[in-house]
Amino acid sequence: MPEQVRVRFAPSPTGHLHIGGARTAVYNWAFARRHGGSFVLRIEDTDPERSTEENTQAILRAMEWLGLDHDEGPDVGGPYGPYRQTQRSHLYAEALETLKERDAVYPCFCTPDELERKREEARARGGFAGYDRTCRALPADEAARRIQAGEPHTWRLKVPLDRGDIVFCDLVRGEMRFPISAIDDLIVVRSDGTPTYNFAVAVDDATMRITHVIRGDDHISNTPKQILIYEALGLEAPAFAHLSMIWGPDGKRLSKRHGATSVEAYRDMGYLPEALLNYLALLGWSLDGETTVIDKQTLVANFNLERVSRNPAIFDAEKLEWLNGVYIRQMTPEQFVDRMVPLLEQAGLMAPGDASARREWLLALAPLVSERIKRLDEVVPMVRFLFEEVPIDEPARSAVLAKPGASAALSSAKEALEATAPWEAGAIEAALRALPERLGMKPKAVFQAVRVAVTGSTVSPPLFESLELLGKERTLARLQAALAYAAE
Ligand code: GLU
Repeated sequence: MPEQVRVRFAPSPTGHLHIGGARTAVYNWAFARRHGGSFVLRIEDTDPERSTEENTQAILRAMEWLGLDHDEGPDVGGPYGPYRQTQRSHLYAEALETLKERDAVYPCFCTPDELERKREEARARGGFAGYDRTCRALPADEAARRIQAGEPHTWRLKVPLDRGDIVFCDLVRGEMRFPISAIDDLIVVRSDGTPTYNFAVAVDDATMRITHVIRGDDHISNTPKQILIYEALGLEAPAFAHLSMIWGPDGKRLSKRHGATSVEAYRDMGYLPEALLNYLALLGWSLDGETTVIDKQTLVANFNLERVSRNPAIFDAEKLEWLNGVYIRQMTPEQFVDRMVPLLEQAGLMAPGDASARREWLLALAPLVSERIKRLDEVVPMVRFLFEEVPIDEPARSAVLAKPGASAALSSAKEALEATAPWEAGAIEAALRALPERLGMKPKAVFQAVRVAVTGSTVSPPLFESLELLGKERTLARLQAALAYAAE
């Protein structure tokens, strides 16, 4: 391990932060934290048509929400900035000068049409599909004269033809070997002066002193090219670790077809950042092959690249939901109330500022809800009946209130509850449990009728506690109102 580990996450802001990118960010972050290193955020915004500031901001927000704090980046600065590629042109220009001095590049005057024609011919011959290196053979004085005359040109890397295979030891996939003959004299700077993707990335990783490049294996074919750029610059390449792709359950690359893919969509669906972080960590890495609940500290203390799998990881939305439920149930009532209050306020069920006066009541409600949900977006529908009148939903009405005996169940419940004091779950339970036998009905039929009348639905938090939290007056009024729909 080098003295000072430096890793980077380098998203292109052409969209929001997706599951795959987030997993790459998590691994980089965990690796940096594990080794007391630095985690750098670099925005690769060189595609002007598809990169937006809004996407950059969304990526920053999603990372913050996940708890992936970076040590250097466009928002916090750092010693190797700027951290947006569009602001680093001077560094790419300097690197090009170095390559020229080292005789590692040559200007190429072939026009796009010529290049296309050459490609076609090569394809027809079935030979090397790369550039035929025509301009590499130009005498230096001729090249200089044409540049002087303002002829448009790109700069291409002089791939060292006698170099032998490019071999590197990928920290996930083991030895990787690429024959030099398969590598084109790639363009490093375009005719408009902008750097190509591979050139910018290699220059950035070098100038930012990155020690380990941990990224998706869709970049693996770029790695030999980047290694050649390092060599041409006379610099040592970082270590590489390429992460396997993430598949949907059907074995195809994870995409919108499989459902939500952005981190923010998961936030909006009521996932907890710590649960999503835990899940992302396990998408291709494991602690011991079996532990599924791994908190941030455990991840940081144990993350290593040796246990990152070479096989594609399967994204299993159900497992993520299950894990989220585990995290929700682990919360203390205090923690759960803190998560619940903003949701209740957003839904207009509670006025901002009411939460502190109702803290005791909310603390009593918290465990009734947290034990029954897997996602926070289930909270509001489940507790709405406690805050406002809710219509009785139609399926519940026909399944429960339209059954014979419903009317008797409701009126005797009302009578029994009128006499119940003190108004707390134990006394409410005792009053209601006496009814089924007296009415000659099954307990479930009686309790479901009461539940539907009071909560509007057949699923709710536990009945007796719910009635306590709703209050006596409102409970009785709802039983009375529901009698209008109840079958004799
Ligand atoms: N900007 C690239 C991407 O979003 C990542 C480049 C890299 O990690 O080397 O796919």
